[in-house]
Amino acid sequence: MPIPPKLTAQQRAAALAKSTASRQVRAAVKARVKLGELSLSAVFDLAQNDEAIAKMRVAELLESFAGVGKIRALAMLERLQISQTRRIQGLGVAQRQNLLKEFPDRVAAAQRGKLIVLSGPGGVGKSTVAKALRETGEFWVSVSATTRIARHNEVDGVDYFFYSDEEFDSAVKSALFLEWAEFAGNRYGTPRKPVEDALRDGKSVLLEIEIAGAKQVKESAPEAILIFLQPPSWEELVSRLEGRGTDSPERRAARLALAQEELAQVGIFDHSLVNERVEEVVASLIGLLNNR
Ligand code: 5GP
Repeated sequence: MPIPPKLTAQQRAAALAKSTASRQVRAAVKARVKLGELSLSAVFDLAQNDEAIAKMRVAELLESFAGVGKIRALAMLERLQISQTRRIQGLGVAQRQNLLKEFPDRVAAAQRGKLIVLSGPGGVGKSTVAKALRETGEFWVSVSATTRIARHNEVDGVDYFFYSDEEFDSAVKSALFLEWAEFAGNRYGTPRKPVEDALRDGKSVLLEIEIAGAKQVKESAPEAILIFLQPPSWEELVSRLEGRGTDSPERRAARLALAQEELAQVGIFDHSLVNERVEEVVASLIGLLNNR
């Protein structure tokens, strides 16, 4: 018997982290299949670019479809002469086709709305763009929850849902957020269900969120289109943050330092738009809906 190679503690830790990440990716795919958000063909497509999904057992995937379950999944595999231990990457062409016939796409991709994530450094004008987009009627704009105190002109349920720390903790625990992140000492999260409902109804959804949250969305919904909104210049961003007047000097300084780090993250985004004029950004975003 071959002797397994000895791993260093570092290699073991890396292997462990990789398998945890793979399990999370698979769990997210199964959850979305269960909700009817991903069809079998969509999962096969995702598996082409994602090793964790490619290595998922077919039985495990079939079980996640509503109304299938373990016993039916195994019976189906037997009928189609596919081994119970087969992984997606090991399926032959005929086996794939036979499986696809069993699962006609319930959710035609074309019927689902597009998920657009508008992100970028704090102070770049994301919320102004989001407001203008909401007014066009082309997008359903998500309302986030936050632990931040409401500013004087903000309305609960319109600008944000203002949560206590306890309410936010409980929403995180119950997995009610599609993503959430801490920003400048407060927490912000996107309520999952309204977004999923809107997408299923064929509406295009806009999330206006900071960058860590945008990354989480891309991980759990790779088809999301990530837009990075850039300031026309660094000086412009500084003057917007200073001119805001609603934050304390400490909060402003923290926001500036963060904005500098955030600007360096443009690489993970699908598109980058310079916020010179709000109308132009709005037109580009509406254009994206029709192009992709
Ligand atoms: P503000 O406190 O100025 O309204 O927002 C601060 C930052 O939080 C902004 O960059 C805004 O885009 C971001 N933000 C608002 N809602 C969410 C959310 O649901 N999730 C995440 N990750 N960021 C959010």
